[in-house]
Amino acid sequence: MIIAVDFDGTIVENHLPKIGKEFPFAVECLIRLQQEEQHQIILWTVREDELLDQAVEWCEKRGLVFYAINKNNPEEKAQGSRKLKVDLFIDDLNLGGIPEWELIYKMIKAQKFSRNYEEVYRSAFKVQEKAFLKRNFLLRLGTLFAEFH
Ligand SMILES: [Mg+2]
Repeated sequence: MIIAVDFDGTIVENHLPKIGKEFPFAVECLIRLQQEEQHQIILWTVREDELLDQAVEWCEKRGLVFYAINKNNPEEKAQGSRKLKVDLFIDDLNLGGIPEWELIYKMIKAQKFSRNYEEVYRSAFKVQEKAFLKRNFLLRLGTLFAEFH
């Protein structure tokens, strides 16, 4: 798969123009997706020029080398704001935010992209039914409380 990943707010905490603290396992998960699963990872960020270089360098120092940066492939000329032709975006601006990196990794590995996280938990992670039901009950209780609040 071709996967586009955002930098600020996704790989690291968003402190643009500074580079924030890494989210746990972000780099490790991306490297594993490249190496174990042969996915092509594209960096897709608003960063440009020096700020972009800093982010790329930050990643490379940690062993994360992108297939392409802000474009579809290494040969393509910089393409401005055109949407990338990718299979998946990992971005903190996703509706509902993004899950933790461990979950992102497992979802991609299991090819489970359901927006229904309950389903993902159940099918991809083999969380025991009991634990799921308990969690689901608490969620429902929370929803109920919110409705009457
Ligand atoms: Mg972002």
